[in-house]
Amino acid sequence: PPVILWFRRDLRLADNPALQAAHATGRPIVPVYILDEGSAVRPIGGASRWWLDKSLKALAASIMERGGSLVLRRGDSEAELRRLIDQTGATCVMMNRLFEPDGWARDTDIAHALKADGVEVKGFNGTLLTRPGSVLNGSGGPYKVYTPFMKALRAQLEPPAHTTGPCDLSGAPEVDSDDIDAWGLHPTRPDWSGGFLGEPGEAGATRALSAFLQSGLKSYDDDRNRPDREGTSRLSPHLHFGEISPWRAWTAAYDAAGSDGSSAGQADKFTNELIWRDFSAHLFHHFPTLPTDAFRPEYDRMPWINDAAQIEAWTKGQTGYPIVDAGMRELWTTGFMHNRVRMIVASFLIKHLLIDWRKGEAWFWDCLMDADLAQNAQNWQWVAGSGADASPYFRIFNPITQGQKFDPDGVYVTRWVPELKRLSPAFVHSPWTAPPEILRAAGVTLGRTYPKPLVDHAEARQRALAALKTINSQG
Ligand code: FAD
Repeated sequence: PPVILWFRRDLRLADNPALQAAHATGRPIVPVYILDEGSAVRPIGGASRWWLDKSLKALAASIMERGGSLVLRRGDSEAELRRLIDQTGATCVMMNRLFEPDGWARDTDIAHALKADGVEVKGFNGTLLTRPGSVLNGSGGPYKVYTPFMKALRAQLEPPAHTTGPCDLSGAPEVDSDDIDAWGLHPTRPDWSGGFLGEPGEAGATRALSAFLQSGLKSYDDDRNRPDREGTSRLSPHLHFGEISPWRAWTAAYDAAGSDGSSAGQADKFTNELIWRDFSAHLFHHFPTLPTDAFRPEYDRMPWINDAAQIEAWTKGQTGYPIVDAGMRELWTTGFMHNRVRMIVASFLIKHLLIDWRKGEAWFWDCLMDADLAQNAQNWQWVAGSGADASPYFRIFNPITQGQKFDPDGVYVTRWVPELKRLSPAFVHSPWTAPPEILRAAGVTLGRTYPKPLVDHAEARQRALAALKTINSQG
């Protein structure tokens, strides 16, 4: 009888533990992807749906090259698995597990139910460096601070046994499959995907990694904070959908650091980011309310203002702070935003505008191709100061000096805010400080060609600090 290979967020054939295990049985493999929107804790966001559409098509093509056929089903996971078991006579289901609390619980229930009917179910870790629950502190609990987690993870890290490449996938029984285009994953109303960047799928992931190792890794430590340079790997959507394993990125970084003479220190910096990804995933696994509740509960007493017009100005990149507006427009246009700018725009929303971080998190969820519940929530809570190992709330990013420091020539800002392109770097991060004749010569009329700042930085800063006092004074 065949084995069902249930694809989740592991949309690749290489380094795929569930596929390797299925292959090792020597039985025909029935690969399936189930779009189960009904039981998802949160529907997939718009930009991620675009990515998923392309990624599944790439996976289906690779499977076809190996003589197989990806079965696509939409509906309740358990019901669809049972239907497939009935159709194929399969007696075993293999999958790489989801570690998000909701997915974990659901899959555990499905596994119990199928096992009760005599179907073997096997789960693997194909998405994280380490399995949640395997990196614990001295008292057996989860780490809540990154650095000790990072050290513990590095100390106990064991590379997975070498997994072979893709294998022959022919010989599975034929069954019905949905037409992916009928799933409507590609955005329609509106279709804003025209400028989305990236190449979904396993081949695209490999290309992104190679490009980064060739040009970005050697100066990663400096360039990773520079949105005006292409200094980071752009692997995040590939990692989210499991088109590449974090292990592959990890080992390739150390191999490249060794061979081109650049210090292993750069590879350490890069892999520390991969460890942040594990850290967020482990935290979420242990603390299921991470996307909904402040990790430090007193932060849920923050006197948010939540001004609807200001939220809209933020989403549209019309706040009057050029670095914030550039980031928000980059996000909308490309489905991606540079990490430094994510921190700046998030801090601006939360602290300058006193808008609940959950509203920003929701907008990112819909617009990011790499939208990931654990990563998004952990990072928003990091900026808000309410997270497990957060940046202190009183560290309020100054959007002017952040722009000057990380985009000194205004290259990034003017790419996304072209209405300021004739302003010199001295004024491009704070156009309202430019003398009227300079503004006139640059064709900028504040309030008409480009917005006046939504709030005054110094006043907003004081208001944010005062808000913090109110939550602290209540003990
Ligand atoms: P690189 O610098 O090349 O890093 C390599 C990999 O390490 C990334 O692909 C990513 O998987 C991981 N990584 C890097 N930075 C972080 C980080 N701060 N936290 C966790 N993992 C990290 N990342 C997501 O994948 N999904 C999200 O939904 C998400 N939301 C975010 C929201 C906010 C407010 C902020 C400040 C950050 C968020 N991040 C999120 C983290 C980070 O911005 C992206 O992972 C990063 O910009 C991806 O670019 P890259 O692949 O070129 O990164």
